Amino acid sequence: MTKPVWRPAAEAGAWKGVEVLHYKAEGSAAFKGVTRRVLFDDPELACQVRYFEVQAGGYSTLERHEHLHAVMVLRGRGRCLVGDGLYELRPHDLVSVPAMAWHQFQATPEEPLGFLCLVNTERDRPILPTSDDLACLRRDERIAAFIKF
Ligand code: MN
Repeated sequence: MTKPVWRPAAEAGAWKGVEVLHYKAEGSAAFKGVTRRVLFDDPELACQVRYFEVQAGGYSTLERHEHLHAVMVLRGRGRCLVGDGLYELRPHDLVSVPAMAWHQFQATPEEPLGFLCLVNTERDRPILPTSDDLACLRRDERIAAFIKF
């Protein structure tokens, strides 16, 4: 049996003993002002729970992949694209990202957006949009106005 872990919250979105990590390698994909924390990562669970924080005006990478995301907003305000849907995000909202759905999370210009994201430990690498994919996404003017790439 693995040892239990107790990590008290230092404040909203911060936990004692949980390191603040880079979201992705700088320059590997387009994103702005995102940090990552791995909260749970136990091989026996075969999944990870991460906490992402997007600073005000920031955004995650526009991407898609075979693995799923299960997301719960913990703090702040923002919006997301999932597939061809755009959704407002507030604390405690839930969003799932299906396989191969384009997705991007954005904080509002005024407030950061912090959310939990559950993924399988073993997962495929994200795919970035090609210029054809972007052209396709931009056919929907609401999506064209939203996406940052
Ligand atoms: Mn993703």
